[in-house]
Amino acid sequence: MTEPIRSGFTTRQVHIGSDATAARPRALPIHLTAGFTFDSFDDAAAHFGAGDGFGYTRTGNPTVDAVERKLASLEGGAEALLLASGQAAISVALLGLLTAGDHVVSSTHIYEGTRGLLLENLARLGVTSTFVDEIADPDAWRAAITSRTRLLFAESIANARNDVLDIAAVAAIADEHGIPLVVDNTFATPYLVRPIEHGAAIVVHSASKFLSGQGAVLGGVIVDDGRFDAARSGALFPHLAASPSGEAGLWERHGGHARIAYLRESVAPRFGPTPSPLNAFLIGQGTETLSLRVERQSANALAVAEWLEARPEVASVAHAGLASHPTHHIAKRYLSGGYGSVFTVTLRGGIDEARAFVEALQVITHMTHLGDVRSLVLHPGTTSHARRSPEQREAHGILPGTLRLSIGIEDVDDLIADLDAGLRAAASIGERFDIEVVA
Ligand SMILES: *Cc1c(COP(=O)(O)O)cnc(C)c1O
Repeated sequence: MTEPIRSGFTTRQVHIGSDATAARPRALPIHLTAGFTFDSFDDAAAHFGAGDGFGYTRTGNPTVDAVERKLASLEGGAEALLLASGQAAISVALLGLLTAGDHVVSSTHIYEGTRGLLLENLARLGVTSTFVDEIADPDAWRAAITSRTRLLFAESIANARNDVLDIAAVAAIADEHGIPLVVDNTFATPYLVRPIEHGAAIVVHSASKFLSGQGAVLGGVIVDDGRFDAARSGALFPHLAASPSGEAGLWERHGGHARIAYLRESVAPRFGPTPSPLNAFLIGQGTETLSLRVERQSANALAVAEWLEARPEVASVAHAGLASHPTHHIAKRYLSGGYGSVFTVTLRGGIDEARAFVEALQVITHMTHLGDVRSLVLHPGTTSHARRSPEQREAHGILPGTLRLSIGIEDVDDLIADLDAGLRAAASIGERFDIEVVA
């Protein structure tokens, strides 16, 4: 606004210098504002009526919108919706598809937070779930589907065994039933694989991980393929196809984009996990270097995995890039540019060796996060998977000596020297390398 000549200090304090200038910054501006002024009386009505323009940051923000366009493009989707965290993205995506009485078929090999969401939170809302263990077997997915199943859920590179999903095979099964395959693509990133290109309908991410990369903010994103078909699936998702109130329904207004339009108009703004525009900006900045980081991280991780696999202190390494991995052939089909950089290594011995290893590391940071530019380590058995029974942990490839590594962009020689120190510390716990792995 132009300077009001007679306005008071406080009026000027809040009004002067807060308006957008005519300049066009090359970097994305951070629109850190709760809301947006309406140019005219009619503009306000048009915003509330047809959703034109920006009104309030919970329903739309130019910084958030810019990052959404970037991520939709990178995933090869039609539209994206940015949320406050990865869990927010998964929650909003599922809440937009499911009704009490519905059923989900999910891979067993998923992030613990998502598993809890399905088993506890959605179960309390009347949604049941079946978990498929043999995710490489199409018949296992097919057998779990009932007349109330409304979606299939899996991770492209799975927690914690590093199994790579045969996306096209599972997507084809979802398609036989007119329901979407939702893929959590956090571990792979769109640089390595774009599930929508292989038939997935919806991709979700924790943007807190590789997309932001700097480890400073949380975020999540939903990317939709824009191919919802009411003629085929409208009876399964009546809230997307028809409008109970008589006004134009989502399908009529948005066609194939009805699904993501519903999330944007009716789920995200009501449940409310809105991303901060500042966090959106940092996710956008991070994503600008995604390919460079993931390429380097994948190369580092494969070198580290090969080095670890050859060491006598190591019982096994679960990295999809290794020929020894059970889904290496699937990884070769789907992943290009690298095999990812989050994987587990299982030491000979058990928890004492794992403790000595973690405590000896100096370059690799001990924390619960992944996809960071810095290399990170965590002991899943006593942290993320502590609530599971030993049998369940073992089925997921998590033994007392198992550690999860997320490899960063550091010089690989420094990482190997650090891991070498860790293995020596583990070895010094006892001359136990002739003892079998304790389950
Ligand atoms: C971290 C993570 C999530 C949850 O994301 P937040 O941003 O922490 O809420 C979901 N899925 C996978 C695979 C993750 O690694």
